[in-house]
Parts: sequence; structure tokens; C-alpha cells
Amino acid sequence: MTQKKNSKRKNYPSRHHIIPRSRGGNSSHENLAVVNSVAHNKYHSLFGNMTPDEIIRNLVDYFWNGEIKFVKIYLNEEEEKND
Ligand SMILES: [Zn+2]
Repeated sequence: MTQKKNSKRKNYPSRHHIIPRSRGGNSSHENLAVVNSVAHNKYHSLFGNMTPDEIIRNLVDYFWNGEIKFVKIYLNEEEEKND
């Protein structure tokens, strides 16, 4: 992994496209997040231009042994069932 000189020294607010523009995302408020530049660079080093859905799918498939329960808990979508 290569790092730019300035990214290590300076940490500044930067705009992140949740759905990357290269994947059809736009620059509306709903698709933009302000994140610090250090975290932003790390995010794209790890995930490139993947969409959030693709990132979660990869985590589930490759790191969580197909266990979707963690995602549902994170999203507060875990159903309370009493079977
Ligand atoms: Zn970004």
C-alpha cells in the first residue's frame, strides 16, 4: 500500500460518495458523507470502489462464514421471533 505524503500529516474533512460515482452514485446529500481524510483513504484502500452492499456481502461470504445475523443486528433488523 502506498501512502501520499500529505495524507499522513494532514487530516481534513473530505467528501465521500456512499455509492461511488464510478458505480453510478450522484452527489446528492443522501449519497454524500463528510469523513476525515485519513479514514477516507483507509476505506478506499480496503474497499476500492465497492458499494456498501458489495462490502457487506463480501464480509458475510468471506469473513463471517455466511452468517447474516451480524448484519441484521447491526442494522437493528433482527426479528424477535419466538418459534
Ligand atoms: Zn470516498
